[in-house]
Amino acid sequence: MAKDYTTLRDPNAEYTMRELSAETMGVQAKRGGGRDVEITDVQTTMLDGNFPWTLVRVYTDAGIVGTGEAYWGAGVPEIIERMTPFIVGENPLDIDRLFEHLVQKTSGEGSIEGVTVSAIAGIEVALHDLAGKILEVPAYQLLGGKYRDRVRVYCDCHAGEESEPESNAAEAERVIEELGYDALKFDLDVPSGHEKDRANRHLRGPEVKHKAEIVRAVTDRIGDRADAAFDCHWTFSAGSAKRLAREIEDLDVWWLEDPVPPENHDVQREVTQHTTTPVAAGENVYRKHGPRRLLEEQAVDVIAPDLPKVGGMRETRKIADMADTYYVPVAMHNVSSPVGTMASAHVATAIPNSLAVEFHSYELEWWDDLYEGTPIIEDGHIEIPEEPGLGLTLDMDAVEEHMVAGESLFD
Ligand SMILES: [Mg+2]
Repeated sequence: MAKDYTTLRDPNAEYTMRELSAETMGVQAKRGGGRDVEITDVQTTMLDGNFPWTLVRVYTDAGIVGTGEAYWGAGVPEIIERMTPFIVGENPLDIDRLFEHLVQKTSGEGSIEGVTVSAIAGIEVALHDLAGKILEVPAYQLLGGKYRDRVRVYCDCHAGEESEPESNAAEAERVIEELGYDALKFDLDVPSGHEKDRANRHLRGPEVKHKAEIVRAVTDRIGDRADAAFDCHWTFSAGSAKRLAREIEDLDVWWLEDPVPPENHDVQREVTQHTTTPVAAGENVYRKHGPRRLLEEQAVDVIAPDLPKVGGMRETRKIADMADTYYVPVAMHNVSSPVGTMASAHVATAIPNSLAVEFHSYELEWWDDLYEGTPIIEDGHIEIPEEPGLGLTLDMDAVEEHMVAGESLFD
């Protein structure tokens, strides 16, 4: 039998210095115009995608339902269940206050960073869908309006188990010509056959050469038909990262991503400032506070927040605004289902400094089956829908078909 997390004692229930509920803040039901709406329930279901996608639905007494997505991670559905009593009875239009309310309510159990933030993000995205539907405007309008009708999407590409320069170049060619993308990303943390020790983060000369050959093969093959980024997944030592970044300086690299581990901002800054190769990072930090030092210390050339992980749509907008004060563009990391991807697209159209939004599921045949209508990604772009909210309607038959075993469908 499933555990009931909502009955666990709330550590903040009796007394908190910064209680942000509607009752405590004196936010009354007096808006009129159909805007006096109350949240009645929150539900989740998990899909067995190329990541375990956690879909979130927020229900209201107006019969309007908002759909969001939380970043995957063990325990996220349980955390959402735990937080549900904190927002039942609240007006879903108070997105910022409810976000802070949830952060505050769970501040002692993980809302500074990690899966608790991602759980809050799932609700926050659903609130944007809901608020858009209540106000009858697309979600981007809640974020300040549009900079562009179409958002550029880059395709995260895989070049097989034996990742060699030619297999990467061939895949780049295929993705451009057959799938229509003009923006790509490839992995550089792939075995070269020259490794002596996988733990010490050091790259030997032949390894650096192999990685540079992959970059050269891809960039030479695509020419000016596409942009190409290269991801290192936090793998290398400071010295090796600098050497690799220098080695590819003459090549047309969109950005080099996460060359060093994410914890030490001083090293991140040192690597970025050591090379003319643009360096990106940011998918492993949380809330607007996480990227602050990366930006203030000019430790990145490109910031890469993951929307359902970092805290949701407004939190990503706030990070983008902060990045813009340092003239840093935003390339949103995204490994989500169509729900999180569309949420990212709405933010990307509402900020000036969007480079592109990632798409990480080009090998998953049923990604487009999850929603009604035509494919949302066409020719490497997402056309921003004009329907209220996210403008995406889930196909519940497909959702049910691809649920993780033991999950149940939304009401
Ligand atoms: Mg990455």
